[in-house]
Amino acid sequence: MATLVMKFGGTSVANVERIRNVAAHVKREVDAGNKVAVVVSAMSGVTNQLVSWVREASLLHDAREYDAIVASGECVTAGLLAIVLQSIGIPARSWQGWQVPVITDQAHGAARIVDINGGSLIERLDAGEVAVVTGFQGLEPTRNRIATLGRGGSDTSAVALAVALKADLCDIYTDVDGVYTTDPRIVAKARRLPKISYEEMLEMASLGSKVLQTRSVELAMVYRMRTRVLSSFVPPEEMKAARPDTWDEIGTIVCDEDEIVETQVVSGIAYSKDEAKITLRRIADRPGIAAAIFGPLADANINVDMIVQNVSSDGRSTDMTFTVLQTDLPRALEVLKAAQAAIGECELVSSSDVVKVSVIGIGMRSHAGVAAQMFKALASKGINILAITTSEIKISVLIDAAYSELAVRTLHSLYGLDAD
Ligand code: ASP
Ligand code: MG
Repeated sequence: MATLVMKFGGTSVANVERIRNVAAHVKREVDAGNKVAVVVSAMSGVTNQLVSWVREASLLHDAREYDAIVASGECVTAGLLAIVLQSIGIPARSWQGWQVPVITDQAHGAARIVDINGGSLIERLDAGEVAVVTGFQGLEPTRNRIATLGRGGSDTSAVALAVALKADLCDIYTDVDGVYTTDPRIVAKARRLPKISYEEMLEMASLGSKVLQTRSVELAMVYRMRTRVLSSFVPPEEMKAARPDTWDEIGTIVCDEDEIVETQVVSGIAYSKDEAKITLRRIADRPGIAAAIFGPLADANINVDMIVQNVSSDGRSTDMTFTVLQTDLPRALEVLKAAQAAIGECELVSSSDVVKVSVIGIGMRSHAGVAAQMFKALASKGINILAITTSEIKISVLIDAAYSELAVRTLHSLYGLDAD
């Protein structure tokens, strides 16, 4: 008997019919003798609707009331699923974040889970009842208020609950049947990865693959919680119940790299269109100039990703290029203008017509030449690289947005990822 967390996203619970389908997936696991806690998202589109009502009410609103409103979508789905489960003879009840309780910090709208004290939930699970838990929400105890975890936060709720329950597996049901070597909408030859390491998945998630919320992967990695991505659209009767010996047969399992026997040097290609590029032309080449630029940006909570500083040709002035999230661009430009006195004379130019393309793979740690191959392949297609960053297991380049699909396709075949 295994303890299982099953999480269902918005498209998997989009209407009562889909919720019946979810119940059938849950029944399969219960019938196989597994102990099951389910985490649900709001029905697809509901959270967007709630957010837009809040904005319509007032653009400047109380973050605690925002949370009280947007958390309601999950309450509806949890109750509906409990009812449907009961109607097919499975004992079940819904649990809202405050009832578990899922304790969070005070960062309303983007709260972090601090603790899950699941005592009574565990008792009911042990007694054979399915727990249907609202994703995305928790309780901020100092003010006794509902808090939400940020968009896409139900994934994080699921992994956190799995950790708290010491579950054997956290299954994330979505509308795709796993994690792919790259976006299948761009590259028809993209392949499903049967396994991917926590580290690689974290890079994939933070570099643009939208399958799992980044924070959920961080959590899974820290606690080594096996997390599987699979599709709720595969008919329940066609799927075997989760047993350790079948875990890697369907979907993609995010797991320890030791579990992955056949490793490729590169496992996936990610791209992100959310980047914007800022260049400061002819800034003084002197000690403290980088601090004068990036200090104020950090103070304004703006994340800077890639940074390139050119070699000064005259020993006096240089160019500095870096990237921020597109959504932060207007604010970043304001901050830089305000810091102009400390930075000194320079020309400020920016563009959002850029894309970041990344190759990811734990195999890079032990293989030389991955970056050189990448640069050569891009050059052969006439693609100019605007900035580069690397980590132990990824290389990212910034290029003109117009070339994004060509670059992704080129790199996908370069590293042997194309399906036959
Ligand atoms: N319903 C929330 C959202 O749409 C949380 C989630 O679905 O993960 O962001
Ligand atoms: Mg999601």
